[in-house]
Amino acid sequence: MSVNCEVGLGHSKTVSIVVPAHNEEGNLTTLVEQLSLVLPDDLTWDVVLVDDGSVDETWSAIEALSKKDERICGVRLSRNFGHQYALLAGLSYAKGDAVVMMDADLQHPPNVVPVLLEEWYKGAKIVHTIRRESGTEPLVKRLTSKAFYRVFSLLSGSTIRPGMADFRLVDRLVVDSLLECKEEGLFLRGLVNWVGFKSVAIEFECHERFSGASSYTARKMLRLAWDGIASFSVVPLRLGILIGLLTSFAAFAELGYVLYVAGIQGDAVPGWASAVSIITLLFGILFMFLGVIAEYIGRILIEVRGRPRFIASETVGVARDAARGD
Ligand code: UDP
Ligand code: MG
Repeated sequence: MSVNCEVGLGHSKTVSIVVPAHNEEGNLTTLVEQLSLVLPDDLTWDVVLVDDGSVDETWSAIEALSKKDERICGVRLSRNFGHQYALLAGLSYAKGDAVVMMDADLQHPPNVVPVLLEEWYKGAKIVHTIRRESGTEPLVKRLTSKAFYRVFSLLSGSTIRPGMADFRLVDRLVVDSLLECKEEGLFLRGLVNWVGFKSVAIEFECHERFSGASSYTARKMLRLAWDGIASFSVVPLRLGILIGLLTSFAAFAELGYVLYVAGIQGDAVPGWASAVSIITLLFGILFMFLGVIAEYIGRILIEVRGRPRFIASETVGVARDAARGD
């Protein structure tokens, strides 16, 4: 793959590769090896490996890699903060004029990085990647992810194309804008769209995980999906008003019917069944929306507390206090 570094930027620009890693001891060495093979020789690059509270030998692997090559630095988070916050930590420590975010498990192939760079050299500030349907992902994951993107686009009015993952290049301008967004419930896929800037998307073939197992459990996926919706949309709250109106209307219609039966027809049957069902229905809806409101209030509480969104316990190859934006 040829990369034309001359276009637009010249050789002075630098690139940081940010890699969140949770129990990825078997992947990091191969990832770094492959990256050094595919990155152009005349490019100044560094890698920020973020150990997101791993319980295996991920941190020792990062320390060893950093000792061998000074372009590799590591940030160890004090516990497992989650993929999105590990990415954020990486972004805060990255110094490059552009930052590439990619997974540690080689599902995001390193040889796509030069293609991302090429688009950046041509002037794009954000280069998204779209996973080509390869059939390797489990059917349930593919279907639920497709359904999620539909619902997200519908509720938030901002489109995320199915297959768009957290594998992308962002220009320094975008990184700084992202770091200025101090919100909780971080959902980078939405936020990267929200900040704007000129963007392009390229397709790539998603590989099988090289080693280890996915740490995205169904619970974590659901959490991410709800974070995405709740931080980009108040439609769930407005839905409460709509459903409230509809059910009140139905309740009034029922009242009219009851008055008609009791007053005009005069043969009121003991109507406890309908009364109970209406009360149950209304209470059900009421509690559901109390839950939605409580969730949003909970988010306000978390936001107001203003706790740091990640804590680095130690670093290699970079000063611990070098983080920006958090
Ligand atoms: N990851 C992380 N913290 C977590 C879960 C995952 O930093 O709590 C990292 C993980 O090491 C990988 C990336 O996020 O580099 C994607 O995770 P994974 O491969 O488990 O997800 P999947 O590809 O199955 O969606
Ligand atoms: Mg993976």
